[in-house]
Amino acid sequence: MGIPAVRSGRPSLDGRPDTPFLLDRFGRVARDLRVSITEKCSLRCTYCMPEEGLPAIPQHELLTVEEIVRLVRLAVRELGVQEVRFTGGEPLMRRDLERIIAGCHEQVPGTPLAMTTNGVGLEHRARGLAAAGLHRVNVSLDTVDRAGYAELTRRDRLDSALAGIRAARDAGLAPVKINAVLMRETLSGAADLLQWCLDEECTLRFIEEMPLDADHEWARANMVTAAELLDVLGERFELTAAGRDDPSAPAETWLVDGGPATVGIIASVTRKFCDTCDRTRLTADGMLRSCLFSDQEYDLRQALRSGADDAELATLWRGAMWNKWAGHGIDAEGFVPPERTMGAIGG
Ligand code: SAM
Ligand code: SF4
Repeated sequence: MGIPAVRSGRPSLDGRPDTPFLLDRFGRVARDLRVSITEKCSLRCTYCMPEEGLPAIPQHELLTVEEIVRLVRLAVRELGVQEVRFTGGEPLMRRDLERIIAGCHEQVPGTPLAMTTNGVGLEHRARGLAAAGLHRVNVSLDTVDRAGYAELTRRDRLDSALAGIRAARDAGLAPVKINAVLMRETLSGAADLLQWCLDEECTLRFIEEMPLDADHEWARANMVTAAELLDVLGERFELTAAGRDDPSAPAETWLVDGGPATVGIIASVTRKFCDTCDRTRLTADGMLRSCLFSDQEYDLRQALRSGADDAELATLWRGAMWNKWAGHGIDAEGFVPPERTMGAIGG
């Protein structure tokens, strides 16, 4: 489980114009790099991980600090990447995370470095991470109800996650953005979560659940839609549509009670955003992915470890992105979820 069935060799570059950037056949250019650095996690969110966690990646298959730093440098300096986000699994599970951040910051000092985390244990590391060069964090928090959190994540760690969010804010990793996946179990607590974020000066974004859970329980008919959430929030807050704050960002935003505070919704299933996608992804074991939902991966680790120089790695990366497909088709009949699940790709 978790590993894609299809792995291709060299991607075709047929018809590709001569440009250094990560262009695809549909005219999109990837500027936003997501680097997953581990499959391990301190939580077991039901929409993501199986109860027992993901199969462990053997240590020798994980990219090392030096390899990650080299690839991030290549992406920024040669391929036009403008922002790098570390994810997982849970990035805080890597004890060398501070070295990864410091190494990248040294090599690409002007590039924003961000992290997506569940916040558990962040309380003790936020200052060090900020000092190493981390700029921003997105923290995943689906509810502020302790029992509901424990049920959804299968771990009773709400206090630690909340302490982590506050520590991140105090360490200057602000504005802290909160991500909440829309689940039926937590929908009734959505307004409380928004109120908590307003009180703590965090920006909240809800995300429609995607068919990337390891337990394969996702069902289109059962998922909570953005429209349902708007109804629930509308009972407590006055929401005014405010469009998208960034054209390539999939979140649509609403002013809360006239603003300036906003709430965002990423309607990943019901309102497709693939046309403006600007992502490129690297898995913890060094595979390149052009899309969350793709089952095509390109083995950058093998190329790296067999002595490829930067020019060869760049060609492989450009080819992987040139072959990106138009979109995920979740809403289409016959949609098949990818073998690799969210925890093994990195959201
Ligand atoms: N452990 C970190 C965290 O939870 O933030 C980083 C990895 S997690 C896979 C990245 C993001 O993916 C989180 O915001 C999480 O809520 C989201 N995610 C996981 N499974 C999802 C799913 N099936 N649908 C939508 N979002 C999902
Ligand atoms: Fe872990 Fe993040 Fe997946 Fe939750 S969403 S199980 S915190 S990787």
